[in-house]
Amino acid sequence: MSDIIQLLPDNVANQIAAGEVVQRPASAVKELLENSIDASASKISLIVKDAGKTLIQIIDDGSGMSVTDARMCFERHATSKIKKADDLFALQTKGFRGEALASIAAIAHVELKTRREGDELGTHILIEGSQVISQEPCSSAKGTSISVKNLFYNVPARRNFLKANGVEMKHVIEEFERVALIHPEVEFSLHNGDNEVFNLKKGSFRQRIVAIFGDKYNQRLVPVEEETDILSVSGFVGKPEFAKKTRGEQYFFVNNRFIKSAYLNHAIQLAFEDLISKDQHPSYFLQMQIDPSKLDVNIHPTKTEVKFEDERSIYAIVRTSVKQALGKFNIAPSLDFEQETAFNVPHNIDLNKIKPPTIQFDPEYNPFELEGKAVGRFGTAAAPVKTTREKSNLENWQKLYDFPEIKESNPEIHQQLISANWDEKENTAKHFIAQLANKYILTHIKSGLVIIDQNRAHQRILYERYIQSAALNNGNSQQLLFPLNVELSSSDFELVKELKSELNSLGFDINEFGKNTFVINGVPTGVENISENILEELLEQFKMNEAKLKLNKQDNLARSLSRRSAIKEGARMTAKEMESLVDELFACEMPYHLPNNKPIIIKYSLDELDQRFEK
Ligand code: ADP
Ligand code: MG
Repeated sequence: MSDIIQLLPDNVANQIAAGEVVQRPASAVKELLENSIDASASKISLIVKDAGKTLIQIIDDGSGMSVTDARMCFERHATSKIKKADDLFALQTKGFRGEALASIAAIAHVELKTRREGDELGTHILIEGSQVISQEPCSSAKGTSISVKNLFYNVPARRNFLKANGVEMKHVIEEFERVALIHPEVEFSLHNGDNEVFNLKKGSFRQRIVAIFGDKYNQRLVPVEEETDILSVSGFVGKPEFAKKTRGEQYFFVNNRFIKSAYLNHAIQLAFEDLISKDQHPSYFLQMQIDPSKLDVNIHPTKTEVKFEDERSIYAIVRTSVKQALGKFNIAPSLDFEQETAFNVPHNIDLNKIKPPTIQFDPEYNPFELEGKAVGRFGTAAAPVKTTREKSNLENWQKLYDFPEIKESNPEIHQQLISANWDEKENTAKHFIAQLANKYILTHIKSGLVIIDQNRAHQRILYERYIQSAALNNGNSQQLLFPLNVELSSSDFELVKELKSELNSLGFDINEFGKNTFVINGVPTGVENISENILEELLEQFKMNEAKLKLNKQDNLARSLSRRSAIKEGARMTAKEMESLVDELFACEMPYHLPNNKPIIIKYSLDELDQRFEK
């Protein structure tokens, strides 16, 4: 028998390698941006079409390439960045594998134009599926322009696997931000079709953070600075009061390379101990400079992980430096930490100011009157037509009150309730209802005592309303007297664009208003605490649900909005407000549990009580 082993042809080998290097448009964007940085560019423009699926173009004013290098750069393992194994331990560049361009050229139509400073003419190369189609001299600006068209044109499985443009664009923006953040000395722009997403001028690290995440970040940052023999740490952490429930802006750079490290994240989280609650995540933008020989960046093909030689000391240094920075900030919170005067942050707006929750109620309202306005106090929409099931629920609830009052049958419990928060004057109904610790509503049913979580009850009511308005696409909107301009981060902006029709069906009236900005003209009826943070708060809840649960967008939005808008624990309620809340709760399809199955009502039967009294 003849031998059967052969070397793979280059184009096949490249296509296989491409699978590892290029998963989606964003991975090509990352590689190309890094190449421009490695070529010492001072200005980099990125243009994508269809979130990079049809076109990714990067234009830089960096070193450019010679005629031969322009051809060589598409060969596998072709790199100018290392020559021998030892160089791996002194890496100053982002690239070194020489795989990116070969991989990209194997799975796309690539056009390269490049010229070095001293050369009169540049080089123009067309390459498709690793085959050079043409190479000729051309006149071009100093630097390099690479266009990557029709990514995965010859790998249909990969192409079909790509997500909707909104999702792919989110990834592109994420990679762009990671590179742009740590290179504030470079001017960057990003266009998505005709739409300018970013235009970042040169500046300081702080200015770059603010340019990417919005002016409000200028007031949220606490500087961190630490020099030791092993490494230096610098950058910013977010003030504790701006910590989020989702892992938001957490950026760690080692030698100007974005990395993910659960270990170092833990160090920072620990530095925030006592300042934020366990389920909150601080934001941070930290950069670390370390002798390249002390780390190994070679452990992950897309290189967002590194291995440190002396991990434990690094952990300790990071933790201490963040803790110290926070300490300084806490002792002297009024100190103005090198505020950038270039930014126009209106100082009279207090972003922290949170209005106390308010509840609207109708003093004329009688919870036991079934007709007409018996619904809607705590809902968003005007009273929808009741189903028979809802009607009977209401009637059941009403019946519950027709039984002898506990006041007579069990004075002890009643006494307890009075001391809880019972306002006699408000008690016009012939049953008792009381609030305990400003978070639970106590009342009775025929067979015993019920305790209702006020926040969850309201969430359930709102959730069912929102689901209904979404299904019927008839969410009522309350128009704002003064429309709100809301500036978002680019990825949140893309997310809102993606969710716009769902938001409309809930009753939001929002429109795009220039770069990363929406104007809110109306919100769903009944939504309280309306401020410019409303979208951010909603999105935060949305993202948290998205990370944990597999929900459709509509369900997730309904949950997020109801959670954001429900009466909070700690809000004091009058007897009438409680009655109407309880009333609406029992008109719900599912009054007993939240959509996540957490209980809303706890019942103590008379039997149980008797037992505890040892009767
Ligand atoms: P690596 O970055 O790992 O070296 P790449 O395949 O990304 O591998 O690039 C191969 C080579 O092409 C680089 O080493 C560099 O010499 C050259 N190159 C790539 N992009 C540029 C650019 N924008 N400007 C100048 N040279 C570039
Ligand atoms: Mg590279």
